[in-house]
Amino acid sequence: MVYNWINSIQSRLTPAFCLLCGHAAEQDLLCHTCRESLPLAESRCQRCAVYLPAPNASLCGHCISKPPPQDAAYAAFRYRPPVRSLLQDLKYNHRLHLANWLADRFCETLSASRHPIQVDCLIPVPLHPGRQRLRGFNQATELARRISRNLKLTMEAGCLQRRRATPKQTGLDMHARKQNLRGAFDLDKSRLPERCALVDDVVTTGATSRELATLLKNNGVKHVEIWSIARADAPG
Ligand SMILES: [Zn+2]
Ligand SMILES: [Zn+2]
Repeated sequence: MVYNWINSIQSRLTPAFCLLCGHAAEQDLLCHTCRESLPLAESRCQRCAVYLPAPNASLCGHCISKPPPQDAAYAAFRYRPPVRSLLQDLKYNHRLHLANWLADRFCETLSASRHPIQVDCLIPVPLHPGRQRLRGFNQATELARRISRNLKLTMEAGCLQRRRATPKQTGLDMHARKQNLRGAFDLDKSRLPERCALVDDVVTTGATSRELATLLKNNGVKHVEIWSIARADAPG
């Protein structure tokens, strides 16, 4: 496919200069200083991966008062600059080599964390086919492919599909997001794994991943996690 070809060319042409600041980057996409400045999600809720200011807490208030459908969640970074611009660059400027780079950082932080790997299969959060055709790729699939290769897990990209293009979630409150997503996905029961992680580039409010986790759980998946490169902080 064309995008695979572009990706392989891009990854061979590793820029000599940092994508963020333009300084020398020695065989990497970012210079040492910019790489060190990435906002790691070191302290996070084990259930929804939202950033927790208290370093010893393991669950956020939301997950304590109303446990979400997923069993666990992991994010490598908080969704803040400069991670936000790297993810936007991947999606909107077709910088596909960033998918491998970000997936590698995800795996590094995961193995350095205490998060146990309790899944054997990764499922990328699907894009609507129309949107995927326009973009040429689904960033979640590109990320999941690399993570599954690094961690020796399988990837099942075909078991979830978007039935209809949902209007953009941006600007909608939690209730409107839920309504917007109702009935938006189809699943192929014959391909469902027992223990899986849904993979996405960024989780903002978590409405999409919760909807998908509920769907998987309702159809017999025993253990569902949500893995993302970045997780937005709780509002306020
Ligand atoms: Zn830099
Ligand atoms: Zn939580």
